[in-house]
Amino acid sequence: MQHRAKKRFGQNFLVDTHVIEKIIDSINPQAEDHIIEIGPGLGALTQPLLKILTRLDAIELDRDVIPELQSLEGGERLHIHNVDVLAFDFTAFKQSNFEQGELRIIGNLPYNISTAVLFHLISHRNCIHDLHFMLQKEVVERIAARAGSHDYGRLSVMMQLYFRISPLFTVAPHCFRPVPRVESAIVRLQPRTSTAIGYDEHDAFAALVRQAFSQRRKTLKNTLKGLCDSGQIDAAGIDPGKRPQELGVDDYIKLFRQIH
Ligand code: SAH
Repeated sequence: MQHRAKKRFGQNFLVDTHVIEKIIDSINPQAEDHIIEIGPGLGALTQPLLKILTRLDAIELDRDVIPELQSLEGGERLHIHNVDVLAFDFTAFKQSNFEQGELRIIGNLPYNISTAVLFHLISHRNCIHDLHFMLQKEVVERIAARAGSHDYGRLSVMMQLYFRISPLFTVAPHCFRPVPRVESAIVRLQPRTSTAIGYDEHDAFAALVRQAFSQRRKTLKNTLKGLCDSGQIDAAGIDPGKRPQELGVDDYIKLFRQIH
């Protein structure tokens, strides 16, 4: 079948067999693992996974690629969910399908929705064992960035709060068809076993971080007006004259505790 890649679905299909092997090696799938692939497309990662797994679930929005996926070798072990990943309830899926063993989620994500997918997965972190994603290289750099660096921002704080981050390797544009304009990278994320911010506190914490980074050049005492005053920032042990990118994840937690 000739499939024409669709831009609106962020379709850039992996074609480099060496890179595909390297990704599968990094995931190190075991036969009984509960793997969910986001955006299998024409099956570049799906096919090697099906060779190993007794069951594979895949979430794919484009119904035109489904016949291709079903005809893969071992396709009878593939469960395709033809829905938008942003509407997929991973927690409910895990509960109704597997008594034990958390989910391993993988995918060469559509780049136009990759940060939305990451935020969606934060709320399902309790049922996740690990994540292996292909993302735009800059996004991986932002996720992994240290406080004080140029790439450090809201995404770094939120992802580092909930996950341990391991950038693995970069992937060049020529490894895809059509060839994308950007470089890509593979990252592994593992949910932390305990986080300082509880489920019911997530929204308020996220709002604090969002407001802090709304104006990177301004000092905290200015940006956080309405949420807290200089005295509270000071009481959290943080200089109110600092800028948002100078605070580590722990500082944001301290500040949050001081306000709430
Ligand atoms: N994994 C394949 C394809 C990656 S391209 C490969 O590496 O070759 C991204 C894939 O995500 C496409 O198949 C696209 O149709 C799918 N996709 C795009 N938006 C999606 C969404 N909202 N939910 C689920 N899948 C989506």
